[in-house]
Order: sequence, then structure tokens, then C-alpha cells
Amino acid sequence: MRIQSLLVSAAWAAALAAPGMARAQADVPHTASQADLPYLESLYTQLHAHPELSRAETWTAARMAAEVKPLGYAVTANVGGTGVVAVLVNGPGPVLLIRTEMDALPVHEETGLPYASTVTVKGADGSAIPVMHACGHDIHMSVWVGVARAMAKNRGAWSGTLVMIAQPAEEVISGASAMLNDGLFTRFPKPQFALALHDNADIPAGTLSVPPGPALAAGASVDIKVRGVGGHGAYPATTHDPVTLAASIVTGMQTLVSRENDPFEPAVITVGSIHGGTKRNIISNEVDLALTVRSYDMKQQQRLLDGIARVAKYEALAAGMPDDLLPVVTYVESTPPTLNTPAFAAMVDALFVARFGKDRVVAMRPSMASEDFNAYGLADPSIQTTMFWLGATKQSTFNAAKAAGTRVPSLHSSRFAPDYAPAIATGVEAMTAAAMMVLAKP
Ligand SMILES: [Zn+2]
Ligand SMILES: [Zn+2]
Repeated sequence: MRIQSLLVSAAWAAALAAPGMARAQADVPHTASQADLPYLESLYTQLHAHPELSRAETWTAARMAAEVKPLGYAVTANVGGTGVVAVLVNGPGPVLLIRTEMDALPVHEETGLPYASTVTVKGADGSAIPVMHACGHDIHMSVWVGVARAMAKNRGAWSGTLVMIAQPAEEVISGASAMLNDGLFTRFPKPQFALALHDNADIPAGTLSVPPGPALAAGASVDIKVRGVGGHGAYPATTHDPVTLAASIVTGMQTLVSRENDPFEPAVITVGSIHGGTKRNIISNEVDLALTVRSYDMKQQQRLLDGIARVAKYEALAAGMPDDLLPVVTYVESTPPTLNTPAFAAMVDALFVARFGKDRVVAMRPSMASEDFNAYGLADPSIQTTMFWLGATKQSTFNAAKAAGTRVPSLHSSRFAPDYAPAIATGVEAMTAAAMMVLAKP
């Protein structure tokens, strides 16, 4: 039923924004994105200069609340930690959730930009941890505010309920479930539709991409404590060396992907961190490994995790490690794959192609990155979800890299410097258009 009426709405929206047609005054998504751009650019540079780590987004959350409250949204703070929920009830119709994340990363910014972050926070051991919006969540927040403004100022153009959420702790994939566990779908209107975007360094600013189904991989974080018996570096026979054992485990795990995994089912095992020992001539007592594991299928994901535990245990036994000193494997956090609802994604894609033209709506392969946006759809399978990509790289930088066969700085890089003005303008126009399609007047 809903799909049917949405298809009609999409056709209407497509007709309104048909390429070549003079922009009607009623083209709210376009006019709003242009009119608010200077305001949103200024907001972006402020957010960029004030990054906060996961679960510590207090300044950011207060700013998000302060941005939308004067627009008439009913704002609730501290949902699932620092999360913000802003609700605008505007007549009969469906409930649409639009999500932004708020957290930044422990990265030392090296962009050299005038608004670059110089923020550091104190770690548990007293050391200074640099903080940077290296994933572009500051872009997402700027777009989110732009959409909130466009929807609030043009209430005559839509009907329904808008639930705007600013989510904490996406980078540690716990913020979405924290908001759900704190009553996101019971204390506030429960959505039938949920939308999100993520910036993407692999496509130019001004472009978009809507994954038709699989969008982002399942991710799991795994820690392995490799234990041994330490001693003098000159007397290895009197020890059980955890460094050589850790090396065997790291290389042994590579065969889980290269030899045991179906080559047509993408999988990644990355050991992102390895720490052990203090001095050249001391054999240490233990080595710590930290891994990330990615795939698109939960059964396959479990096979990889089981394989990691198996390799760790039997490499230790092969090294002659006693039973009471086998490696300790800890599953830290995990998230399922992010799968767009195909029918909903197809409508969003058709809307974008009609509005922006085929050249600006590009096809991309599914990504091995992970997200916790999936949590909203998994909480209730009747909710239709779509996450789309928002191009972030300056067109000239993109062209130069393509010509030279090199890569541009990726998300999470210390040199990630999005071309924020066209990205934000495109994001606001795209997300507002998608919101107005879902919340079209009957
Ligand atoms: Zn990220
Ligand atoms: Zn991100």
C-alpha cells in the first residue's frame, strides 16, 4: 500500500524536478539548500573545529539541540547517552526518521586547513589524545540541520511526522542500540521509514550514490591476548615467547580468507594493532592483538570468528604453550551488515536521478566499511531503511588522482579534507527531497 503511494509521490517529485524544466518556486529542496548554505558552511567549520570522541559528544549534542529547538521541534536530550531526538508533528501521514551521527575520531589532523582541529583530550593514562572529525560526521550534522530548517520552514509542503535524531557513538557501533534501548521507538513516534547519508571520499562532492541493497558490511572487533612465559632475551629455551607465537597467529589467520572463505563472498580480517614487549633483550609475558573482521553474511562472519579462535588456540599448542597459557580471545563489539530496503532505495535513487541527472548519481560497489544504522531497521523489520553516499572529494582533486592513478585521502585519514560547500548543498537538497517524497501530502 505504502509502496504504491510512494511510487506516485516519486513520480510527482520527479516531474517537478525534471531536468531542463525551469525550477518552480515550489522546489523547496533546491531553494532551501542554496539559501541556507552560508549559514551551514559556518556551522560546519565550527563543528569541525570542535570534535568530540564517541560517548563524549556533549558540546556537539547541545549545539544540535540549540539549532533545531527554535524551529519548533520538540527536543529531548540525553537519549542513549548524549543522543538528541527532535520531533516535528505536521499533520497526518507516515513517520520518517532521519539520522546523523555526532562523534569524531582519535586522529591527529594534518590537513593544514584554517579551521583544522587542534583538540586533544586526556586519555586514561594521562596522555593527550588528538581528536578530529575524520569521518565527516560534521558534514552529516550540517546537512541534518539544513534539512531540519528546510522542513520546518516549509510545513505547507509536506504532511506527517519527522523524527530527527543526532546519534552518539557511531564509531564504536554502540550509539544506535543505546538510543533504541533508551526508548527511541517507545517514547517517540516509531518510524515507518528511516534515512541516513554518509560522506564518501571515493566520489566527487556534488555526486550521490544509492546502494540498491547491500550497503555496508557486518563488522566485529576482536581482541586476542597472546600469553607466554617471559625471561631473558638470551635464554629463549627457558621461556615461551609470545612474540613469535603472535607472529604465527597473525600470518595463520590470513588463510581464513585466502583458503577457507568462498572467493565470491567478500571478507576482511585486519590486525590493526599489535603490542608486546618493552626491551630488545627481554622476552615479554604477553602480546595484545586487536582485529577487525568484515563480511556481508552473519553465518560467514561466525565462521571467520570461529576460525580466528581456532587458529589462535592451535598455533599456541603447536608452539608448545601449556594449556593454562592459551590465547584469550575477546569479542568486543559487532554489528550486522547495513542492507537498504530494495524498493525504498530504488525510489530514492529514481528521485535523485530525476532531480540531479544521471551524471551526479553514480553506481558504487558495496563497501567493506561498517555502520550501526542497520540497528534501526533490525529493531523492527517493517521499517524501510535507506542509507546513501554523499560525494566529498573536491572535483579537481578527484580528477587529478584519477589521471595519476593515485588515491585521495580516505575517511579516517588525518588528511581527509572534504569539499564541504558542494557536499552540504547536495546533501541538504537530496535529503530534503527524499523526506518530502516520503512525507508527500496525500
Ligand atoms: Zn567512521
Ligand atoms: Zn562515519
